Amino acid sequence: MSTIARAYLATSATSPLEPGVIERREPGECEVRIAIGFVGICHSDIHTARGDWSGVKYPVVVGHEIVGVVEAAGSNVTRHAVGDRVGVGCFVDSCRNCENCLAGEEQYCLAGSTSTYNSVGRDGLQTAGGYSTSIVVDENYVLRIPDGMLLAAAAPLLCAGITMYSPLRNWNAGPGKRVAIIGMGGLGHMGVKIAAALGAEVTVLSQSLKKQEDALRLGAQHYYATSDPATFEILTSRFDLIINTVSADINIDEYLSLLALDGTMVLVGLPPKPLTHRAWSLVGFRRTLAGSKMGGIRQTQEMLDFCAANGLGAEVEIIPASKINDAYERVLASDVRYRFVIDAGTF
Ligand code: NAP
Ligand code: ZN
Ligand code: ZN
Repeated sequence: MSTIARAYLATSATSPLEPGVIERREPGECEVRIAIGFVGICHSDIHTARGDWSGVKYPVVVGHEIVGVVEAAGSNVTRHAVGDRVGVGCFVDSCRNCENCLAGEEQYCLAGSTSTYNSVGRDGLQTAGGYSTSIVVDENYVLRIPDGMLLAAAAPLLCAGITMYSPLRNWNAGPGKRVAIIGMGGLGHMGVKIAAALGAEVTVLSQSLKKQEDALRLGAQHYYATSDPATFEILTSRFDLIINTVSADINIDEYLSLLALDGTMVLVGLPPKPLTHRAWSLVGFRRTLAGSKMGGIRQTQEMLDFCAANGLGAEVEIIPASKINDAYERVLASDVRYRFVIDAGTF
């Protein structure tokens, strides 16, 4: 017996998202059904809905910054109970046996983790994400939302939050470290908040000066506009760690020149086109160019608890489902302050 959920679907790369219905299976023994409260709009949703990356199967229901309340639980569920506030991020399953799964890095599962949307689930069906009224997920891939955290502000933590927390922790952002965040959108603004809470000296590199006041309010000490060529002279060899959230074509060599000796640039933004850079940009100061994808379940819970302990949440603009297509245009125009979150009651 399945449940019918209301949803918003992308039916092709060029059509606007539109309302419809999807089926959700009854929760299995180890699964919960979550009544979705809010879902964030990640730029990855837009890349997927618009076919920027290959392999999209339409119709697709995107959305992987999901928060809500458990409304049904299978007989063997022990980690969550009906009524609990929970979240789901970018993946809903993985093999659980490979070395990466065993290390708690399920997002790097060697058999391929199952993405929350546009993947094939254990039931052989295409996974459908959070732009819907409910979702059924194995309890091991469901996070606890700490008490006291506002649900809407928590939603973006499930992707944007963990995608920034993970590299900040893995590359030891903290006191005495100079960290720069390129792009202050959904990911970037969480990066500023988390890096500041970790005690790092935070600089925002944004295209214009429009977000300067906000960046300083969120915890950045410094802010520079990358449209000003002087920025790259002033900041040469400055940073220990740069996290690049930009999904457009940018001159990577210019930004690598801002890394100090042994500094690292971590790519988290996913531009559709290949990136190129000169070898000398790394060789010159023993620099590293790295990448990072979300975070594992254990680290995601750690991030949620860290955010709760430090009073952090996303800066959100809550919208009804009817405004999704307008919101997409605003994200593409870098005009989001700083994450759109859809009220799932409006699907
Ligand atoms: P977003 O909200 O659109 O933020 C991206 C920011 O990049 C913009 O707000 C803008 O900030 C800056 N930007 C945009 N166009 C630019 C350009 N032409 N040149 C320089 N800067 C530009 O997007 P998001 O949701 O944070 O996602 C960012 C990227 O990360 C996407 O590619 C997404 O798919 C990817 N992503 C990756 C992971 C992962 O696990 N690695 C997880 C989630 C998302 P300013 O106005 O401040 O310049
Ligand atoms: Zn995302
Ligand atoms: Zn695995």
